Amino acid sequence: MRPKLIVGNWKMNGSRAGNAALLAGVAAGLNGTKASVAVCVPAPYLQQCQELLSGGPIGWGAQDVSAHPIGAYTGEVCAKMLSEFACRHVIVGHSERRAYHGESNELVAQKAVAALKEGMTPIVCVGETLEQREAGQTFDVVGAQLEVVLDQVLDALDEGALAKIVVAYEPVWAIGTGRTATPDMAQEVHARLREQLCARNTEAGRKVAILYGGSMKPDNARELLAQPDIDGGLIGGAALKAQDFLAIIQAAEDAAGQAAEHAEPQEFAT
Ligand code: PEP
Repeated sequence: MRPKLIVGNWKMNGSRAGNAALLAGVAAGLNGTKASVAVCVPAPYLQQCQELLSGGPIGWGAQDVSAHPIGAYTGEVCAKMLSEFACRHVIVGHSERRAYHGESNELVAQKAVAALKEGMTPIVCVGETLEQREAGQTFDVVGAQLEVVLDQVLDALDEGALAKIVVAYEPVWAIGTGRTATPDMAQEVHARLREQLCARNTEAGRKVAILYGGSMKPDNARELLAQPDIDGGLIGGAALKAQDFLAIIQAAEDAAGQAAEHAEPQEFAT
């Protein structure tokens, strides 16, 4: 069974005082949760996260990384720099970066490889626009976005690295809009993504966490997280309020508990 992972994407929000209060609120409410929890914060706040969160249950990471290892790339931050702040995760290919910064599938894949090479987990975002969904292109779009990442990870690294990526299915029409994919809609896409991963390597495909993102909130998290191929959430707006973020983490923990109750008993060799 894959453990649940809940990641907050703060986007371009925060202040030193506000971050400290938010993180203290989340930490205080965690109560030994079994779900994995992380926050992806603006780069200037990574040091603050490292100071406040080291040794505790909340991981931290960045929202983007350069595809280049070092050099004359003004404004970019490379993977080695992020790893100096002990980032565990880095989001790559968020739809806001694809839309506002023109990031292609190829560039996103290069970023995923750059993160893996420095020992970080890339959270590879894929998702279709409303137009694409209505035109019946959802699987083609998300499939093509993932395919390039799989190609490049396997070319540059190996199957072991493939098992280390996290995929986030984030329908563009659901991000920050209050509209959410229904659990069935999301599960259908997650299952297709899982098939695509398993087609490259079954063991790796079964291990990869596939998160859902797009207006996940306390009132819809439970049903989404109960789906067999939804392994957690990438949370935007609701990650900025400790109570909401904690409620989603609790929903993840409950979903994992229920899945464990219904799991087939395993046979052990004697
Ligand atoms: C996101 O930005 O990744 C996201 C899922 O945002 P929201 O939860 O606000 O829709």
